[in-house]
Amino acid sequence: MSLADHLRAVLAEGATLAEAAALLGRSRSHLHRLAAREHMPRRRRAMKAATRRRLENLLQDGRLSLTAIARECGVSKSTVSVLANAELRRRPGFHPRRIRRARYCPNCRYMVWLWPCVACAARESRTDPAAD
Ligand SMILES: [Zn+2]
Repeated sequence: MSLADHLRAVLAEGATLAEAAALLGRSRSHLHRLAAREHMPRRRRAMKAATRRRLENLLQDGRLSLTAIARECGVSKSTVSVLANAELRRRPGFHPRRIRRARYCPNCRYMVWLWPCVACAARESRTDPAAD
């Protein structure tokens, strides 16, 4: 049985790539490329509704940093960032542009691709009681 067959069997059992990597003694990136090349169906789990609610509440609350929220909810920082940005985009009159090179915001020191700084705007909108 080839590695691809092993991988297919393990994934069919519902394992993640990380679990498959541990089982088969290969790196996750190796298996990822193999799975892509062989067009294997990949499992993508949706976030639990409870986790999403908790994330949104913590974002609304605004006391924790994105990193702290990610740790608290057991999701990646980029997931938190996506939700935070989605919330920002819903606000009228806020239209940050993507800049050519990411730069450090002099105010919050985040590395940002969108200017004006979305991290600062998020923090201000959450601490300003006049905003919504
Ligand atoms: Zn900033």
